[in-house]
Amino acid sequence: MRIVLLGAPGAGKGTQAKRLAEKYNMVHLSSGDILRAEKASGSPLGRKVATYMVAGKLVPDEVVVEIMAQAVAAPRQASGLLLDGFPRTVPQAQALDAQLDRLGTPLDRVVMIDVSEDVVVDRICGRRSCPKCGAIYHVTHLPPKVAGRCDQCGYQGQFEQRDDDTEPVVRQRLGAYRKLTAPLLEYYRRVSPDKVLVVDGNRRPDEVTAALVAKLAPAA
Ligand code: AMP
Repeated sequence: MRIVLLGAPGAGKGTQAKRLAEKYNMVHLSSGDILRAEKASGSPLGRKVATYMVAGKLVPDEVVVEIMAQAVAAPRQASGLLLDGFPRTVPQAQALDAQLDRLGTPLDRVVMIDVSEDVVVDRICGRRSCPKCGAIYHVTHLPPKVAGRCDQCGYQGQFEQRDDDTEPVVRQRLGAYRKLTAPLLEYYRRVSPDKVLVVDGNRRPDEVTAALVAKLAPAA
């Protein structure tokens, strides 16, 4: 199964993608994670993408398309592909569609996690992650079972906050989302109307997961 996960920053794409990838044995490709790794490497490309990321702006299409095309084409064992955060613009979606057509592996589903903006700002500003395994938490809505200890890998210590998860940068990211990413839903409704699913993301993570699994079941 090949899925694109759409949704505003803070819609819960990362949390849900990890769960779905595990359940359906899919490779989870998060463009944000891939770009953060490039940034952390300190390479010339990493320094270039960092300037956009810290400002809450989208990295230019040609850069992201190139990086993600390599990740999508990489050989793998898993039975599916889950794209999280990519595509984020119509030109990126067109490039992805063209690549998947060439590979003979078109998308099966485009899943939109729909959330309201006030929910999103609260979620992002409280978001934390495990520095060891990347598990995602929220200071009030989704804390680890034992304070300061990761449920997934047992890491103990400080959890991390992303440097672009501050309110001014979040507002900028939401602006980019409204202008450039929200139109993707219409794009996919036009080119693949039978593949698009919308799930209400204004709920607890477990409820969203259950709704996603129920809607994806026919394609799984
Ligand atoms: P995310 O972790 O998905 O919220 O992405 C964090 C940041 O990485 C975004 O605010 C952008 O600066 C950049 N980014 C991630 N995915 C893309 C993409 N598909 N196109 C452009 N920029 C992206």
